[in-house]
Amino acid sequence: MKKILVAGAGGFIGGYLTKELISLGHIVIAVDIKPLSDWYQVHSAATNYSRDLTVLDECKKSAANVDEIYNLAADMGGMGFIENNKAACMLSVLINTHLLVAARDSGASKFFFASSACVYNATMQNSTDNPGLKESDAYPAMPEDGYGWEKLFSERMCRHFYEDYGLETRVARYHNVYGPLGTWDGGREKAPAALSRKIATAKKLESNSIEIWGDGQQTRSFTYIDDCIAGTLRLMESEVREPLNIGSDQMVSINEMVEILENIAQIKLTKEYDLSAPKGVRGRNSDNSKIKELLGWSPSISLEAGLGETYRWIESQVLIAQSGNS
Ligand code: NAD
Repeated sequence: MKKILVAGAGGFIGGYLTKELISLGHIVIAVDIKPLSDWYQVHSAATNYSRDLTVLDECKKSAANVDEIYNLAADMGGMGFIENNKAACMLSVLINTHLLVAARDSGASKFFFASSACVYNATMQNSTDNPGLKESDAYPAMPEDGYGWEKLFSERMCRHFYEDYGLETRVARYHNVYGPLGTWDGGREKAPAALSRKIATAKKLESNSIEIWGDGQQTRSFTYIDDCIAGTLRLMESEVREPLNIGSDQMVSINEMVEILENIAQIKLTKEYDLSAPKGVRGRNSDNSKIKELLGWSPSISLEAGLGETYRWIESQVLIAQSGNS
């Protein structure tokens, strides 16, 4: 049994991770800047604090006497958010920097950082038939502006804290994590949640069209939350100090994802394309050779299965919100 700090525990991935760590018998200190009432999951078995982890003293208080730290705290969202809030995204560097300092000074033995596929060189993502990004494709560096630069810099901070101070660091490059109990409206939601909401709303309002950002041919892979948590724990337990992809390699276009969701929702809609909306890189997929080789594992939950769970939860949220409005 370890004492573990989860930073960003009020967020989507942090909520699930806290739950899993508690069920494994660990003592969890859960911290997020949001008031507890806004956390996606509050676990009473954890010790929960609302704290701003850009502040060094708050990091030090939170990291006191812990064995391990998982940093999932960041000011982030989907494409619509990161393309329009580059400075805010880059300010998350304060969270990771101060948490690393706090980890070093408190004597924590291991530190996990949630990085992103947004670190990959943009020029390798200009085609819809992306063969899969290998970990080495982050260099030469040309990441997503703002958010991706912060992630790449923070990855290197983790590496240098091991080299200079011996702090064991683990870095995951998450590829589009989705599932129930995440952000589904308000501007920070990602494609699976946004499209689920739009389809559920169209169904409820008996509308026959859906707006798609871009031409819908852009490709991505999407990682179901249960795979994300399983991969994160395996990586943390391993001896692997280099960044690893944690991402599905089931690549689909946005149009194909809409069709999967239409089948789940049992509805057929006309797609209306907004070519001026933020759309990110043209094609992105995860190459899982390295994680299979080093951890003997890769994500296995199909997009069809994961989207089924996600759509049903978001549809229930849309119906609750609509009944509140009527
Ligand atoms: P999320 O937005 O749901 O969770 C992040 C949490 O961090 C939020 O609850 C937020 O309130 C908290 N936070 C922000 N600033 C803080 C501060 N100053 N002090 C304390 N807490 C603060 O996002 P998520 O999807 O759970 O992502 C978790 C991590 O994984 C992030 O670092 C994100 O960049 C990374 N990531 C996520 C995805 C994905 O698809 N969800 C993909 C790649 C990387």
